[in-house]
This record gives sequence, C-alpha cells and structure tokens, in this order.
Amino acid sequence: MDLHAWITEQVDRVEQSIEEDCIPSDEAVPILRRCESDRRILARHRLDPNVTYEPACEGCGTYDDMGLPNVDNLNECPELLDLAHAHGITGNILAGLDRPQPPTRKPERGRLTLASLLATSDAPAALRGPNWKPYPTGARAHGTRQRQVQEGAA
Ligand SMILES: [Zn+2]
Repeated sequence: MDLHAWITEQVDRVEQSIEEDCIPSDEAVPILRRCESDRRILARHRLDPNVTYEPACEGCGTYDDMGLPNVDNLNECPELLDLAHAHGITGNILAGLDRPQPPTRKPERGRLTLASLLATSDAPAALRGPNWKPYPTGARAHGTRQRQVQEGAA
C-alpha cells in the first residue's frame, strides 16, 4: 500500500464511521465535507498516467521544456504528506508504505511504425511487387503515410 492508498483508506474509514456510529447529521456534514475535500486532493495528486518511467505526481505538475515531473515519487508529494499528517500518519507508518509503481504504458493506436511504413497493402496495382499483401487489420495509419509519400514523389 502506497501513501495515496493509505490516505484513501483513512478517508473511507471516516465515512464508514459516520454511518456506523450514527453521527447526527449536523455533526456529520462538516466531516463529510472534509472527506470530499480530501478526495478532491487525492484525485488531483495521483500517479501521472503520462509518466511511465517513475511514479510521478500528476497534481504537482512539471518543469522544464522536457516536462519533467516536479515530484518523481508520489509518496513524496507535499500535498499528500500534509493530507496524511491530518489523518495521523506516523514516521513508522510512512516508512512502511510501499513505493508506488509507475503506471503501465498503454499501447498506442494509430502510431506510425516501421512495419506500417513498409506495408504495401494499399499500393496501386501497378506498383505492387511480388511481396504485396492485402491490408492488415489494425494498421490504418500507414495508408495515409503511403499516399503522402506517393503524392510527394509525384
Ligand atoms: Zn502532488
């Protein structure tokens, strides 16, 4: 469990305790408002899905022209650490938390690859060589690229 998951668990417990302890609504409203506020912070300060080489914080933003993350380990996000402090985290708990894992890279669709550039599936019949193959499914980008190449060459 990383810091983000630990805080989420604390917020869940607070919300559950309101129901289980039958806390009167006038006392529950500010507590639930605080839980909602915590969840908004958790939604902003989460693993950056665009950074797959380290567990960066999306909410802390980036710097430099390269878009390098300001916080490269979500467990070190200052916003989350402050939030965890409010939920009573101790040094021992913090030290025992798991390092967050970077998000997995999603396969990109429509991206030009060497294989798609080399495909000959939509070449005009007059230009088809002995290795011509019909259009492969899932590789749509290469047709556009080949037409651009052909138009550029004409
Ligand atoms: Zn952050």
